[in-house]
Amino acid sequence: MLHFAVAGVPRSTPRPGGTVEGLKHAHRLGITAMEIEWVQNVPKNPDRLKEIRETAGNLKMPLTVHAPYFVNLNSQDHAKLAASKMRVLTALSMAELAGARSVCVHAAFYTGMPPAQVYTNIYHATEEIMDKKKKLFPHVNLAYETMGKTAQFGTLEEVLAISKEFDIFPCIDPAHMHARTNGKVNTAAEWNEMLDTYEQYLGTKALKHMHLHFSGIAYGASGEKHHLPIQESDANWKDFLKVLKDRKIEGNLVSESPLLEEDTLLLKNTFERL
Ligand SMILES: [Zn+2]
Repeated sequence: MLHFAVAGVPRSTPRPGGTVEGLKHAHRLGITAMEIEWVQNVPKNPDRLKEIRETAGNLKMPLTVHAPYFVNLNSQDHAKLAASKMRVLTALSMAELAGARSVCVHAAFYTGMPPAQVYTNIYHATEEIMDKKKKLFPHVNLAYETMGKTAQFGTLEEVLAISKEFDIFPCIDPAHMHARTNGKVNTAAEWNEMLDTYEQYLGTKALKHMHLHFSGIAYGASGEKHHLPIQESDANWKDFLKVLKDRKIEGNLVSESPLLEEDTLLLKNTFERL
């Protein structure tokens, strides 16, 4: 099954809000999954995480997590690199306690270095992260995201190559790919090619547990500017949904539009009517 996930607590959630109330409210709205937005910081209260896990479990809502933005696994500053690895590990460990299946991470910036060298640096950081992950929180997936700005590590090939090496799977954001290429990746042929590449790297079975993001997006020559409501963007979103349906893609597709629950439901309802 392909779940359409809301990116965080729906805006119409009754006060005082929070993830648990947000899950219940999303469920009432007909939404079947959530990505928990730990983009500023990661909660560490085990009781709270257990409550999230149990609520999502009872509602049969599969969870993903978005890790903090303040990560650069290519940092040349020793302290910053160590802090980045720690942030990824903390997000992974707490996500495992919350019962999430996958954690998306913005891996790094090139900071003027050749992409191959950046890849090697991220490879070494990932080795350390995966060493600990395998022992301490083996179930949750580390998903490096395809990124929208040309200064960021995260082409489709980069995130697939590194994921294959560690037997993990990336977070594919076709809106970011669209922005990064200044308007390409917006047709059925291109999305099919994207999924073909994904399948070549990770195998056919990997298409049954994907971690996807989607939204409208504003962009320029250096890529992403900001996310947009789907219907205010140039995304051929109905064609995209049709490709997902035709290829029987499964997993979680997170709607990252600023219209949280509205656009999640727009995508879900349109997909179901196809
Ligand atoms: Zn992201």
